[in-house]
Amino acid sequence: MPDDLMEGGMAKGLEALSFDNSYARLPEHWYQRIDIKPLKGAHLASFNPPVAAMLGLDPCELDPNRLVSQINGDVSVPGADPIAMKYTGHQFGFYNPDLGDGRGLLLGEVINDKRERWDIHLKGIGRTAYSRFGDGRAVLRSSIREYLASEAMAGLGIPTTRALCLVASDQFTQRNGMEPCAVLARVTPCHIRFGHFEYFFYSRRYDELKQLADYTIDRYYPECRKADNPYLAFYQAVQSRTASLVALWQCYGFVHGVLNTDNMSVLGETFDYGPYTFMDRYEPGFVANKNDDEGRYAFDRQPEIVLWNMSALAQALVPLVPQKELEQSLVGFMKEFRDQEALRMRARLGFQREEKGDRELVDAFFRIARECQLDINRFLYALTEANDFNGLDLASLCGRCDTDGSLSEWLGHYRERLAREAASDPIRRAQMRSVNPRYVLRNYMAEEVIREAHNGDYKPLNNLLALLRTPAEKNEQLDHYAGTPPDWAGAICLTCSS
Ligand code: AMP
Ligand code: MG
Repeated sequence: MPDDLMEGGMAKGLEALSFDNSYARLPEHWYQRIDIKPLKGAHLASFNPPVAAMLGLDPCELDPNRLVSQINGDVSVPGADPIAMKYTGHQFGFYNPDLGDGRGLLLGEVINDKRERWDIHLKGIGRTAYSRFGDGRAVLRSSIREYLASEAMAGLGIPTTRALCLVASDQFTQRNGMEPCAVLARVTPCHIRFGHFEYFFYSRRYDELKQLADYTIDRYYPECRKADNPYLAFYQAVQSRTASLVALWQCYGFVHGVLNTDNMSVLGETFDYGPYTFMDRYEPGFVANKNDDEGRYAFDRQPEIVLWNMSALAQALVPLVPQKELEQSLVGFMKEFRDQEALRMRARLGFQREEKGDRELVDAFFRIARECQLDINRFLYALTEANDFNGLDLASLCGRCDTDGSLSEWLGHYRERLAREAASDPIRRAQMRSVNPRYVLRNYMAEEVIREAHNGDYKPLNNLLALLRTPAEKNEQLDHYAGTPPDWAGAICLTCSS
């Protein structure tokens, strides 16, 4: 692209952003300064206009070819300072000191017109100092899955990382057979994981632990500075956000799949998507990751596992906060989780005010959901739209028949409870629609668009992304996604490489 065209404001790339790379100004041994190893045949598979707008990029002024060559490392990005971050963490309960960005890098941090800061992270850029046995690559299949899930989460109002674009390639690597490689440009305010703190704690570098805590507080939790112990306040704030996050997962039947402490963001966002699943049938013991033999990360274990992860973060902060105070905070975690779960479930059920028996009604709902193998998301959508609950097609919503009539009985109690709500039906319905979308991302949908992408057609992917960004709006072309998942959906097998 000739320079005069660029200056004329015509065709820009990421250099149009204002970079301020604060993490790269921290001590040199906290990361590895590194270049991207370009993929062959890189091309744009998807671009995300709402995220571009978040960053302050005008999609109309963007040159897609320039964007691809920057994401692919064919040319450098003026203002960026790419680094692979060092962190450690607990994987499946065991401490691993050798982690870090093994296939990703923080391209840089940008500040938009609203003075908001965003990290741009590229996942799949080749080997780094922390790659261990890995090839440093991400395959198209897993990059699409992360991209879809992050848009779906954002559409549901669940905190998550996002993505600016997906670059696909003609280069292959070994996973489930040979698969094409890709790079996903992940965007979030924060790439600091619980494992960043564990790194300094377990290497007994407490001064640097404090430096990281100060950096994190100043950048993400400035309000904690006013507290008697800012580090305790920081911990409590992370705890609250994290309890709220896992509560939302439980309300939507979302299974993360790999809840290691290096996959936990200190911002309380859903982070590092792998073999995740929004369950088609409510099954508390569901394990999304076929490599998770012990079922450590089963759906119903997520709250206690996240609590375990919070205790790992607490351990790492012991040099900065009296242990007793951290423990005291942890004691409150389950209550915070339960309160947040109740709050969202009341909203999903259309209750505007809290009543005494609501907890029991919600608990009964989940118990019956398990017994009937209910598709909770389609069921709650059906409740939102139904005029007369007698007309609900329960057979299409349940995997197992409501043989003892407990679901019908529950609906009776629910109807009585709704009758005590002050809001009129249209108001209640509008409120319920905001939390009970018509479309929820299912593994089979991801499989379908991945299959097309492997054939070089990214249109189905981009159509599905658009659907998931506004999941309450009816989409005539893709409305089959509101229906029952196909029979083959139950046979989808996900692993760590997903
Ligand atoms: P994950 O399971 O994606 O959370 O990754 C766990 C750790 O393995 C992180 O340190 C990653 O950077 C690293 N890792 C995962 N896949 C690869 C790969 N293909 N090449 C190099 N490192 C990887
Ligand atoms: Mg990870």
